[in-house]
Amino acid sequence: MKELEIGPLLHEGKAKKVFHTNHKAVVAVQFKDDATAFNAQKKAQLAGKGLLNWEISARLFEALETRGVASHYLGCLEPGWMAVQALKIVPLEVVLRNLAAGSLCKQLPITPGSSLQPALLDLYYKDDALGDPLLTEARLELLALLEPAERVQLEAKSRDVNRVLQQIFVEINITLVDFKLEFGRCDAGKLLLADEISPDTCRLWNQSDQRVLDKDRFRKDLGGVVEAYGEVLKRVQGLGPTPRQYR
Ligand code: UDP
Repeated sequence: MKELEIGPLLHEGKAKKVFHTNHKAVVAVQFKDDATAFNAQKKAQLAGKGLLNWEISARLFEALETRGVASHYLGCLEPGWMAVQALKIVPLEVVLRNLAAGSLCKQLPITPGSSLQPALLDLYYKDDALGDPLLTEARLELLALLEPAERVQLEAKSRDVNRVLQQIFVEINITLVDFKLEFGRCDAGKLLLADEISPDTCRLWNQSDQRVLDKDRFRKDLGGVVEAYGEVLKRVQGLGPTPRQYR
């Protein structure tokens, strides 16, 4: 197999750039320092965030894989870059909530921090121009983004990720409050976990004192954003060896 070479830009999102490679089934993802919140109305550059999210995400994808949960992750390239399977991303954001926080507490009379068992699973339509609206079952059917069997699969896979991620975070004394997942389809049509898993996409509280270790530090101007992400990386590094190189 030829050595991997990065090709033209395929897509630029708010936190990552995706590039073609000389391997048809592989794309290269670069993690950016850009931080955005409130549908990109609030923006900043946080030096070092890209590298932190890259390593946290690589290590979490590997920890999931070791525990039987597959994803698009193939391995790391140079720092800040990873190789992942080329997928067609399903334009849905799957949000799993173990404790109430964020938009849930703004929209419903639920006390922040209340336990949600079973975890609440919400689907949002991924479209910045529309503000990522929350979907109902009927609207999901109307959009016809998923076959009924895929809908069942998506939910089951998301709950597997939640169960395993919760175990992982408990081991490192972090409470997994909520998080967002994205899925894509490979050429054969199979749904696979995609995107990233990082403090940009998860709410993470330090177990002993509930200290916020995620993007809420940026959203709420709490300061110490990069330091908090660094603390998450330090703990995640305790899970296992350095992430593997992609060939
Ligand atoms: N989330 C995300 N991207 C989004 C929306 C939400 O990664 O576009 C994550 C967010 O970081 C949190 C979880 O999904 O961990 C639930 O977010 P919520 O619906 O509370 O939205 P918020 O009001 O915090 O943006």
